[in-house]
Amino acid sequence: MKPTIRVTIWNEYRHETTKPNVQELYPQGMHGAIAAGLIGDFAIRTATLEEPEHGLSEVVLAETDVLIWWGHVAHKEVSDAIVDRVASRVLQGMGLIALHSSHYAKVFRKLMGTSCSLLYRDEGEKERLWVTAPSHPIAEGIPPYFELAHEEMYGEFFDIPSPDEVVFTSWFEGGNVFRSGCCFHRGQGKIFYFRPGHELYPTYHDTNVLRVISNAVRWAAPVQREPLRFGKSVPALEPIRAMYK
Ligand code: ZN
Repeated sequence: MKPTIRVTIWNEYRHETTKPNVQELYPQGMHGAIAAGLIGDFAIRTATLEEPEHGLSEVVLAETDVLIWWGHVAHKEVSDAIVDRVASRVLQGMGLIALHSSHYAKVFRKLMGTSCSLLYRDEGEKERLWVTAPSHPIAEGIPPYFELAHEEMYGEFFDIPSPDEVVFTSWFEGGNVFRSGCCFHRGQGKIFYFRPGHELYPTYHDTNVLRVISNAVRWAAPVQREPLRFGKSVPALEPIRAMYK
């Protein structure tokens, strides 16, 4: 039996505390809505920017299998030391799920190595997400496409390295398209970028969105094996006869 997956949901938690319309949509914060909506054998904790060490102490990260990240207006307020700490945990195997405007989160850009820039427009248009990798575990239980009645538009070109898999591709009412569900491997860690989730819309109450994030948690969870070893002077497994001097 697979162990319970330990999930930490991190949110800058700024719009919900400053904008009444966002507070109304997410009275417990977006992290609270996601925590309430995830389906699976998960042990969930949440963390926010204003907490000491942004709620991401060494201990918390050591006890986190998958970190979910939502940031927008406060990317610059995230300390570089914490960014380095999170990135190194990802390289050691912790999964990372970067949501929506977290395409610009310091930790996501650091792990991608590109600008992660894109086009955007917020007119509350319809988004249709097509499954473009139907055999992928993150697409489990998701119909061929699903729609969000109102979302912010993100459009190509999205300046990321070519993803290892593109599980969802979005079409927007205004004509743009976007690689909306992108998988990456970095070191021993797995990263999933998932586009929807503008704070002005009830996206994190949507059943399909929550199912995608739940699937992504299972996919991104670390594989249990002994730690990797690197370096030279490795003893030979068999006697080497063909010595060359
Ligand atoms: Zn947004």
